[in-house]
Amino acid sequence: MRRCIVLVLILICTGLLLGAPTSAQDIGAEATLILHNGIVVPMTDRALQHEAIAIVGDRILALGSDEDILEMAAPDAQIVDLHGCAVYPGFIDPHTHLFNLASSRGMTLDETQQLALENGITTAANMHTAPDSGNSWGIDKFITYAHAGRMRFRMHLYLIHTSSCGDIEGFWYEEYEPKSEIAPRLFMGGVKVFIERSSCPGGVMFNFTDELRMSLPPAGRERWENAWLIHSESELTEILERVNSRGYQAAIHAIGDLAIETCLNAYESVLESEPNTLRHMILHNMFLRDEMLPRYSELGIVALIEMTSPQSLEYFVPLVGEENLRYFCRWADLVATGAHVALDSDWPAYPISPIDKIRSFAFGDNTDPDTESLGPCSHRVSQTLSVWQVLRMMTVESAYALGVENELGTLEPGKLADLAILSHDPLQASSDEVRNSHVAATYVGGKLEYSDRSIIPTLPAQADTSVRPYAFVAGLDSDLPNGSGTGSATLLTAAELDGALGGMRWVVSGSTDLTCFLSTDVPSPFTGILLTLSTSAEMDVRVVAASNCDYMSDIVITVGPEPEAFALPVSSFSAPGCPDATSASEWTGIERVVLLPEATGGELRVYDIILLGAGNR
Ligand SMILES: [Zn+2]
Repeated sequence: MRRCIVLVLILICTGLLLGAPTSAQDIGAEATLILHNGIVVPMTDRALQHEAIAIVGDRILALGSDEDILEMAAPDAQIVDLHGCAVYPGFIDPHTHLFNLASSRGMTLDETQQLALENGITTAANMHTAPDSGNSWGIDKFITYAHAGRMRFRMHLYLIHTSSCGDIEGFWYEEYEPKSEIAPRLFMGGVKVFIERSSCPGGVMFNFTDELRMSLPPAGRERWENAWLIHSESELTEILERVNSRGYQAAIHAIGDLAIETCLNAYESVLESEPNTLRHMILHNMFLRDEMLPRYSELGIVALIEMTSPQSLEYFVPLVGEENLRYFCRWADLVATGAHVALDSDWPAYPISPIDKIRSFAFGDNTDPDTESLGPCSHRVSQTLSVWQVLRMMTVESAYALGVENELGTLEPGKLADLAILSHDPLQASSDEVRNSHVAATYVGGKLEYSDRSIIPTLPAQADTSVRPYAFVAGLDSDLPNGSGTGSATLLTAAELDGALGGMRWVVSGSTDLTCFLSTDVPSPFTGILLTLSTSAEMDVRVVAASNCDYMSDIVITVGPEPEAFALPVSSFSAPGCPDATSASEWTGIERVVLLPEATGGELRVYDIILLGAGNR
């Protein structure tokens, strides 16, 4: 094992010469964190495993035997006994809706992040990111949230060119540099394009070639008789030309074989036999004819896939017919072509848990809690993959899909220390043990973000959850048209809060209402609003606050020409914050503040909108 460590150090030094992200000096000779007495699976080679891993700061220093790794500890290093648990690269989910659909699931962004971390997911992609509009959560909200220092995992945003209903949003994404970190731990992933309508009034549309369509049962022919492709092949090619030439990665939603074939053809025209260096992807890939299979690896197109549940079969069988299921979810066939295939959850469409994915893809289990009564997914059996293949698709291949394989996806010296620790090693455990296994801990950049002490008692009970007061200041843009717009919010310390009241933030003339959408989550408890306002002539202003359960409450204040600070505790509002609450103090959070001047004309000056509460920073 000594030789292993030496090799590792040579690799680090070589990395230095090649300009790798860390140098030997940066990472130091001594580990700040050591995890030992476990099974460390780097995912680089099927046969390779170690007992221990050394971390310095946010990067991996070395992997090796307990004896050799423990020798690397700095005097004040944290040493964690893994009690035989297995350390894997943090799981990467390259297609989720953890951010844009959080609110529709009644969750805050803090809560969806926690969900990911509890499942060992350290990087995810939000595959439908729109501009902010009305109440919907868009990119500004996510950026503000990340700037507030609240990102505990890494999130890649895919910005929509086409919405799921076929509305064209266009090239607005070009405001953001391709693959750049647009806020701490928040990345510009790429561009999402829909070629078929997805969740949308009127239903999901699938487009099949004549070969497949002619053999559909009557129910299917009727169901999709009016299905149409949102983009023709030439339109799609034109869109992709621009996406590709400006260095962006494309991700296209396609389910029917005609839709998928159109994507493959368009990619082929755009790439002109060059390698797919931007990692353009196709999502879903559900219906594939034989001749389509080899095209993924020939063109280098990345396929993203999800688990099949008996529910999807129940849905598809009457519409496509038993016979046509030979085209359906051909995951093993696709992997066998040597294509890059990564595994996602499309959460909330399917369970997010990587352990559930192993069960579904390797054992054919039905892991969807909504359809458990339907039993196992027998169709899956012919397309099952090995546990190793499934693990690779959630680490190495998912890192490749997001273009982050130099930093993540395997455990290697110099890479980021994102780790998922499992109670059992799925490569060695029996299928029943895998079924009963759990995530014991999750580290992001060497920092413990989730732990289950019933599995590893030596870990801290919770990841750094010191509660401290917070306040959000909506730092509003000046010159907002019609006086409404999206404010960016900044999380302030108490000291910063003292100094924040001075500056003028927002000046709007007229009688229009001013809506400040707080592009950020405010966790409970929310205790009040601090407003600083002035007007050109004294007027009443109705302050409406919308809670995060979408319940409005208001209070009227009289504002004069001198800037004045109004402290409005939640108890001063007219009604409880949420329908089920019995008192105004039961606000669980706040989503927006609307100022309604109750006079026409005049000018209302808004200096600050500060939300008060207590929570984590
Ligand atoms: Zn999706």
